[in-house]
Amino acid sequence: MIPQWVIEKKRDGGILQPDDIRAFIAGYTTGAIPDYQMAALAMAVFFRGMTPEETAVLTDAMMRSGDCVSFAGWPRPTADKHSTGGIGDKLSLMLGPLAASAGLAVPMIAGRGLGITGGTLDKLESIPGYTSQLSIPEFQRVVDEVGCSIIGQTARLAPADKKLYALRDVTGTVPSIPLITASIMSKKLAEGADTLVFDVKCGRAAFMQTPDAARELALSLLRVGRALGRRMGALITDMAQPLGRTAGNAVEVAEAIETLKGGGPADTRALTIELAALMCERAGVLGDRAAARRALAERLDDGRALEVFRRMVEAQGGDARVIDEPLRLPQPVAALEVPAPRDGIVTEVDARRIGRVVLQLGGGRTATDDVIDPAAGVDRLVQAGEAVTRGQPLMRLLTRDDVRAGTLLQEAAAAVQIGETAPAERKLVIEEVREGE
Ligand code: URA
Repeated sequence: MIPQWVIEKKRDGGILQPDDIRAFIAGYTTGAIPDYQMAALAMAVFFRGMTPEETAVLTDAMMRSGDCVSFAGWPRPTADKHSTGGIGDKLSLMLGPLAASAGLAVPMIAGRGLGITGGTLDKLESIPGYTSQLSIPEFQRVVDEVGCSIIGQTARLAPADKKLYALRDVTGTVPSIPLITASIMSKKLAEGADTLVFDVKCGRAAFMQTPDAARELALSLLRVGRALGRRMGALITDMAQPLGRTAGNAVEVAEAIETLKGGGPADTRALTIELAALMCERAGVLGDRAAARRALAERLDDGRALEVFRRMVEAQGGDARVIDEPLRLPQPVAALEVPAPRDGIVTEVDARRIGRVVLQLGGGRTATDDVIDPAAGVDRLVQAGEAVTRGQPLMRLLTRDDVRAGTLLQEAAAAVQIGETAPAERKLVIEEVREGE
């Protein structure tokens, strides 16, 4: 394989040979192919695209660039969910244990937050003692014993993606559907789950801002997953408004625990059940979707999902007493109320603005090595359709630095639109995407 010939072929709109794609990725992973040639190929793909077959080969090659976890021969079906990320998106914390309580094995490798998008690992690590750095055999042991484990990406999982993603970030080649697909799928497939369900967020605080863009990505993920032998499902869900009444880290863990106890905000519970039901249906447990929804709701209400969460936290070194004593989670020094400027009905809560407020409070990071404040965030957030009176809190800003929080009051208030009439009911699931439609 001559790298420049491969680059030229894609530059001119050709279809690459599987062996050439594999050799290119293998060479890039070892360093035999330099960044400048990989960047040139990424730019050619950005402009020329890839066929579903090329994208599947690229994904497979990137997955095989490192360790692949295997659950072959396990008695339970394995399944996982991936979300493209959103504000207040704490669903993985409930979904993994809930699906495990229904008989699935859930090996989940999650990420950290960057920009306004929070990361599941940051949330879990706000539980004192919780470690997300397990070796692969330890990860498999926890999945086996508990049914669910949530850990961080190891350096040996899809290393080609780690290198390529950093390169794309500085060469203007991030927003390419085949490259995004290969990046997300190479990591997810390396986890070894047979069933994968995607929550592709759509709206102003999402990576994909329109339903068309979200559908294109979802279809690409479905096709590649199917081509590589997995059972797949995908929902496009709303990320114009935050999920639940909290955004941050420890505060989202507290809300997830409430939901696992059968309470929690209605949107958070409903979407958790919806995604878990899709996962169960695809993996072949709990019957059809409607039956799965009912069975999963029961498992939230009777404590079975909470029990899996408790055991997972304990197995990963965390202080499970936070479940009954939430004050053991990191607490803010101050909680500043954001007053409503007038009477009316909340017509909209802007997730992007809420995300920016959380970031500035210290609950997120702008660079990968930033240290986050686990106690920072927003809670008691109003939701669209609720009536408010002037002076009533729209949310609280949780912080260790009340001077800093004081400067954010106006920005936080501007995230909430107040009108005269109730808005149309929010559609949490915008659509389910199926291949061939
Ligand atoms: N998330 C990823 O992991 N990769 C991308 O390319 C985009 C989002």
